[in-house]
Amino acid sequence: MKKLRHFIGGRFEDSSSGETFPSISPIDNTPIADVSRGNESDVDRAVEAAATALPAWAAMDPALRRQALYRVAEGIEARLDELAEWEVRDMGKPISAARSKDIPRSAHNFRFFADAAEQAHTKAFPKPWDGVFTYELREPLGVVGAISPWNFPLMLLTWKVAPALAYGCTVVAKPAEQSPVTATLLAEICQEAGLPDGVFNLVHGFGTDEAGEALVRHPQVDGITFTGESATGQAIMAAAAPGLKKLSFELGGNSPNIVCADADLDEAVAGSLRGIFTNQGEVCLAGARLLVQRPIYDEFVARMVDGAQRYVVGNPLETATQMGPLVTREHLEKVLSYIDLAEEEGAKLMTGGYRLTEGGLEKGNYVAPTIFADADNHMRSCQDEIFGPVEMIIPFEEIDEAIAIANQTRYGLAGMVWTTNLNTAHKVAREVRAGTMWVNCFFVRDLRAPFGGYGDSGIGREGGEYSYEFFTESKAVVLKLGG
Ligand code: NAD
Repeated sequence: MKKLRHFIGGRFEDSSSGETFPSISPIDNTPIADVSRGNESDVDRAVEAAATALPAWAAMDPALRRQALYRVAEGIEARLDELAEWEVRDMGKPISAARSKDIPRSAHNFRFFADAAEQAHTKAFPKPWDGVFTYELREPLGVVGAISPWNFPLMLLTWKVAPALAYGCTVVAKPAEQSPVTATLLAEICQEAGLPDGVFNLVHGFGTDEAGEALVRHPQVDGITFTGESATGQAIMAAAAPGLKKLSFELGGNSPNIVCADADLDEAVAGSLRGIFTNQGEVCLAGARLLVQRPIYDEFVARMVDGAQRYVVGNPLETATQMGPLVTREHLEKVLSYIDLAEEEGAKLMTGGYRLTEGGLEKGNYVAPTIFADADNHMRSCQDEIFGPVEMIIPFEEIDEAIAIANQTRYGLAGMVWTTNLNTAHKVAREVRAGTMWVNCFFVRDLRAPFGGYGDSGIGREGGEYSYEFFTESKAVVLKLGG
């Protein structure tokens, strides 16, 4: 059993209360770690450490910060196997994905933003005819609270921590209570990489009324970057309001995946299967509403069912596994209740729809890949974020109808369209209200591009210059010209 402690001012520490909580593996529901349970006084110490470290880190030559962050990236790569295995044991994603995607991308986040910060520039506004010259200075936002979810624990934590540190902020991170291990390993890596004490701090624990909320309310925290549920975003916004803190929110989603009759069907089927079953469907971007045009509807549904039945569900530590268990017993129950709801609402269950308990899976939180056909977008099972391996397939006739269905949602994180018609591709990309639109592809990311959501899917954008915008304050310096 691993012992996970806070990382405050360069040292690993217990909670001031001495309290701990277990981290439970979804593979067999046994505890794998004993985690310090952070409270307000732990957050106070961490914020104090971050505030103390801020002036020197903020004033440092970005080239030196880049070198330090490159060492963190190298540290992540050096411990790739260890990080991948713990990520899997902690939250259930397949080891092949953790090794090939999540952990390497976490290292890449550090290199990408370290380079971006060194190359960042500002604007100038010369006005010689009026005898003034104005230029923009960018200064680090300050102490940043980074609150992250459990579905891509290290990848999403580093997506926040790397740009914050690169642009000269100091950080207090609060990882999800369901998946705390790799955040602790990251703290060890930061220590080994020689980051100055207090630049990166970590407080474990829960959200409401505990470490997460204390971080949001702390008067010395200048901004909060949060990824998680939309309802949590509302609570954080309310708690941050008295301090008028800068906020960046990446929230829930329920993305429409539109397949037109003229699509390359092989690619569309493969992309749609990945779009819903990757990471057990525990993906904010998941194409949970699959809109298929009538002429290909029956064939497409049949091919999706066939694909779902071939999906390899099993122990996520085995390399052949494509889908592991859901993160917690509670989340398993939630997903199963939505499967029941979809049936009650009249969607047609085509495959799956049950918990898997055979072949050594009985102790874990496994659900069979599930597909419903003939769904209606007004069903609650189509409107809510199920966040599991459950595809709701909805037929459509004309592309305008598909766009209208796509937009009938409170979310707006992403959307996909599969078509060989260029005009259709551009029309859908333009008219669907979502922060990312993929045409004939899925989950492809360019870190320079804006990432975030419309509506209940978020506030603000991160990535490339958008992260520069969030993690810095902009100052106008006005000079009177002589002569
Ligand atoms: P969650 O909102 O329950 O928790 C996320 C984090 O917030 C955790 O660290 C939690 O402890 C903390 N938290 C909870 N209540 C808090 C409070 N009152 N104050 C401060 N912190 C609090 O989300 P989750 O279940 O961990 O993650 C799944 C959700 O995240 C889904 O809705 C998913 O769509 C979303 N998500 C969005 C993106 C994106 O990029 N838009 C990416 C991944 C996940």
